[in-house]
Amino acid sequence: MQGKLIIFAAPSGSGKTTIVKYLLELGLNLSFSISATTRPKRDNEVDGEDYFFLSLENFKNKITQNCFLEWEEVYSGNYYGTLKSEVDRELSLGKNILFDIDVKGALNIKKNYGVQALAIFVKPPSIEVLKERLKIRNTESEETLNTRIGKAEYELTFEDQFDITIINDNIEEAKEEARLIIQNFIA
Ligand code: 5GP
Repeated sequence: MQGKLIIFAAPSGSGKTTIVKYLLELGLNLSFSISATTRPKRDNEVDGEDYFFLSLENFKNKITQNCFLEWEEVYSGNYYGTLKSEVDRELSLGKNILFDIDVKGALNIKKNYGVQALAIFVKPPSIEVLKERLKIRNTESEETLNTRIGKAEYELTFEDQFDITIINDNIEEAKEEARLIIQNFIA
């Protein structure tokens, strides 16, 4: 049986990655779609686990070779994309795939896979809360923080195109809600 695609998208800082990591530890036959990116690796990240970190040239070659299921220049100069080879391999093994990608990429995959895919939007309770969370996370400079907040405001306008929204007011409750939604979808 072909696996299913579960796509999480959210403004940066919504808690999406925390939820995705939690779900991957539950043993639900879920495998994480490792994206390719040209952005610099953060200290706590591992190449080939969190992302495939590619040079801009390498990434652009892969675009030309039609290697991506979808790709976006998520932030100016920083490209992110889902490799077809990764998705095909996991689906053919009967694995369900979990995606942590941006809003447009999520909707593109949903369009491609229809009912085989579930697009989930994770939302912060407010933009103010999002700002605080991003500051606490401390991975951004003032400039990239403002870029991410601007993008978040834009991304929130896409919510109604998703199958389901999870409001992350309390991370433990959001994780539990996500678990129930996914168990139901892959059952
Ligand atoms: P970050 O730099 O914080 O890891 O990710 C920035 C944004 O890019 C996040 O919203 C993340 O979900 C998104 N992203 C990660 N991988 C992909 C991908 O393969 N495709 C698209 N379209 N967005 C991605």
